[in-house]
Amino acid sequence: MGRIQLKQVKKSFGDVTVIPPLDLEIEDGEFVVFVGPSGCGKSTLLRLIAGLEDTTGGVIEIDGKDATSLPPAKRRLAMVFQSYALYPHMTVRKNIAFPMRMAGLDKAEQDKRIAAAAKALNLTDYLDRRPGQLSGGQRQRVAIGRAIVREPAAFLFDEPLSNLDAALRVGMRMEISELHKKLATTMVYVTHDQVEAMTMADKIVVLHAGVIEQVGSPLELYRAPRNKFVAGFIGSPK
Ligand code: ADP
Ligand code: MG
Repeated sequence: MGRIQLKQVKKSFGDVTVIPPLDLEIEDGEFVVFVGPSGCGKSTLLRLIAGLEDTTGGVIEIDGKDATSLPPAKRRLAMVFQSYALYPHMTVRKNIAFPMRMAGLDKAEQDKRIAAAAKALNLTDYLDRRPGQLSGGQRQRVAIGRAIVREPAAFLFDEPLSNLDAALRVGMRMEISELHKKLATTMVYVTHDQVEAMTMADKIVVLHAGVIEQVGSPLELYRAPRNKFVAGFIGSPK
């Protein structure tokens, strides 16, 4: 389960409205990419879904239940941060176990989930290392592992690859797409990179100044961009 519905969701910071009322449906199992230029509100929208920001108006439903006022820990969503958010003094195993320890899961269940996550992410041989002894791509996979073990209804990624070099980024895109296939869990992925959006998404949401310009599959947006902004951003010939 991982259906997310935004109904007239709005966000202002003081007098400044960053996101005017907006509707959006994310289906269970979908890979949805929020794309748009820097400052258009992608992170804010993701943080509203995660519960890291309070909405100024509207309703957020997760699997049909009103989640608008739920704290992040109660939303069953896992935010994947950039790899530098790992604890440098803890082993990979302890980093991955951390959210489960906080949730009070018993040790046997923790070990089972760590083993499964490590297998899915090809980290089995690295569990006793510390983040400093890993490559950038491996560190990013540990950050994802920490999200997987919570068995979330959806994963939320905010530009997770932006501090990796170009070659690693290509590999990690494939890793994340592969993981989406394996888990079949909803993923909401924020990027300002058109290539990332076009290659990874089932559905792209193009944002411009907090407004959704268009929602569609990569091919739909490419073939039939609704306006110049979408065409320019997606790289359509129009
Ligand atoms: P993006 O992730 O697309 O680059 P953001 O969601 O970070 O964009 O920001 C959207 C707009 O909201 C920007 O104009 C930004 O300055 C503003 N903003 C974001 N967070 C805050 C905040 N905590 N207080 C005030 N303004 C903010
Ligand atoms: Mg951002």
